[in-house]
Amino acid sequence: MAKRLPTILPDLSFEESLEITKIHSISGILNNESLISKRPFRNPHHTITEAALLGGGRIPKPGEVSLAHLGVLFLDELLEFNRNTLEVLRNPIEDRKINISRVGINISYPCNFMLIGSMNPCPCGYYGSKNRECTCTVQQRNMYRAKLSGPMIDRFDIQVKVPSIDYDDINNNHIETSTNIKARVDKARKLQQKRYEKYSIFSNSELTPKLIEKYCILDKKTKEFLSSYFEKMKLTSRAYFKILKVARTIADLNNEEEIKMEYVLESLQYRGLDKL
Ligand SMILES: [Zn+2]
Repeated sequence: MAKRLPTILPDLSFEESLEITKIHSISGILNNESLISKRPFRNPHHTITEAALLGGGRIPKPGEVSLAHLGVLFLDELLEFNRNTLEVLRNPIEDRKINISRVGINISYPCNFMLIGSMNPCPCGYYGSKNRECTCTVQQRNMYRAKLSGPMIDRFDIQVKVPSIDYDDINNNHIETSTNIKARVDKARKLQQKRYEKYSIFSNSELTPKLIEKYCILDKKTKEFLSSYFEKMKLTSRAYFKILKVARTIADLNNEEEIKMEYVLESLQYRGLDKL
């Protein structure tokens, strides 16, 4: 699923293609391509060093975060990564650029990527499974999950549990193609571009708290519900804003200006890790 994600993202503009091509050219990995026209998909191994992830070296080269610029950075087996390696991702995720300082040189590379992480529910992988029993102790499970810090969890807009697939589902023909899904994404994205035209931002994910106040308006009942949920779950303000942005996106995908209660409820379904 992670690998397929770039196929449903909007096409790159010429400027975006140029930007990606430049970064890949500096890294020396431009395989005879004159212009990269597809969104990058990068999936570094969990043994990756901080320097390789963020960029570095004597003459600082872009790291994986910059090679994934305007595309997808997929960290498979998220909890196998060194905890510090994950923590250093926090700033580039927020800033969408990375500064590398060496003696006499300061370099800034863009790194506006979509981060996808996957993890097992526990070390044995079967916690919560309906088919097999988990053999881990509570302590083992807690230690395992503690590798992902609260602030890091907070940075994921969408957190979903993916159940194992039954044999019948594998042979199910009713699978939507990327082309169909992309058409919906394109439509929602156009709506957002038009709405945010004067702010030079392109999507809901870039909304600042001030713009959220303006464009993510809830009716009284929905607002009260969300505020009591916020108190009960002891959410951070970052999580609160993310819930609103995702709800805004669900409304856009449904071609609705109003963020209805059902969209907020759906958005809350995508906060699976808060409950842990
Ligand atoms: Zn287990």
